Formats: sequence, structure tokens, C-alpha cells
Amino acid sequence: MRTAGWRTGETRLIKDLEVTVDVEKLLAMQGMESGRSLETHIKELYDSLCREARSLAEPAFAWAYYEPVTIINNELRLPGGQVIKSRFLAKKLAPARGLLVMAATIGPRLEARIKEYQAAGDTLASYLLDLAGSALVEAAYYSGFQQVEMAIAAAGLEATTPFGPGHSYWDNLADQELIFSLVDAGSLGITLTASYLMLPRKSVSGISGIGQGFEVGEYHCHYCNLRRTCPLSRAKGGEVAMRR
Ligand code: SF4
Repeated sequence: MRTAGWRTGETRLIKDLEVTVDVEKLLAMQGMESGRSLETHIKELYDSLCREARSLAEPAFAWAYYEPVTIINNELRLPGGQVIKSRFLAKKLAPARGLLVMAATIGPRLEARIKEYQAAGDTLASYLLDLAGSALVEAAYYSGFQQVEMAIAAAGLEATTPFGPGHSYWDNLADQELIFSLVDAGSLGITLTASYLMLPRKSVSGISGIGQGFEVGEYHCHYCNLRRTCPLSRAKGGEVAMRR
């Protein structure tokens, strides 16, 4: 049975994503406590950069579904013969019967503005806009994922927390190439450099196992070596114990 009638390997797009970032989020990403009072001019700077980030972001999400996926000998084997080799992923995604492959971006405009701030020597503004961009692309990714997850739940199935290349639990960054062969990230304007970096930089990719009977999942930061220092993890409370 195909999940929700999805055709294996067909990329679908979601562009009506509502994402936001605010001062509290930026403070949390810097490891500052919620409700901290800021001097008026600092608060105004944070506010205005959040507004600018929201106005520049063009959030979009792409996903494709693959079934059946076979997990055997530390490998995820896809119907087209593609293989993701990872002991960690094989363990976390078992007993998935399908695989979601996803990509999200907020487009290039925010990064162009960061470069303008850098060129003007405004390090603080470029830093804060960069942080805001990270928050927005993460929000775009999870907003898109949650929309797909609702359809998965309606089909009586579950999705694992998304895992993605570029985080410490993922062994081989070159798997980005495989992910890009499975979902048409190019339709969002995302390209991959020779060193597997996504452009625009504020882009995210990943996979999620679809099925039933997964172990109680942790949010993916739980498995990452960087979770105490990573701004995105800090914004979720550092020692993330929740799934999302
Ligand atoms: S802690 Fe940061 S780098 Fe690690 S998985 Fe979470 S978001 Fe990614």
C-alpha cells in the first residue's frame, strides 16, 4: 500500500509556509534567558533585524516519498537501487517501510543582505541577520515536514524525527548528492557545491523514516555532539528531550 497515494520519487513543493523569528528566539539562540531586558537601542536593533529577516525570507519546502525502503546490514536500500550506508540511521529508522526525502530554503535575498552588512562593516547586524536566517530556514523545514506528517498520520502511519547530512550523527556528507538525486531541490533554487555545501546557505535537507512501531523518538539534536553549543539547539532548550 502506498502512503496517501503518493507516487514514489515524485517531488512535491510547498510554498505557502508561515515562518517567523522574533527577539526572544534570537536571544535563545545566543544562550540568553527568556524575558531578558535589553537596552532600548539594542531591542530596536534586534526587532528591526527580525523584521528585515522576515521580509527577505522566501520559505519553500520540497519533498519526495520512496517505498518500499529496506533496512538491512546498516544500509537503507531504496526502490531505485540507491543506498544510504549508516549504522546510526539504519538503527533509528527501523522499521521504516518508506522514506521521506526533503529540502527547504528561504532563498538568496537574506544572504545578499548579510553580505551588504559585512561590506559596510556592520558585523553585529550581519551576525544577527544570519542567526535570524537560520531560525527561519529551520522553521520552514519543520513547517513543511509537519504538513506532510499530518497526511502520514491520516494514513495511520508515523514519521521519525528528520535526520540530515551536516550534523555530527550523519557519517558521510557526500550523501547530500544522493539526497539531491532523490528530491528535486533544484526546483527550489538550491544547488550543491563540490564540497556538498548547499546554496543558498540558508537551506536544509534531510530524511525521515515512515512506518509504524518506531522507538520513542528524540529530536535529532539529541544525537548531535554540538547540541550544547549550537544556536538552534540552544533555542530549543539545549538538552533537547522532546521530539520536535
Ligand atoms: S545541535 Fe545543531 S548541528 Fe547538531 S543536530 Fe541540532 S541543529 Fe544540527
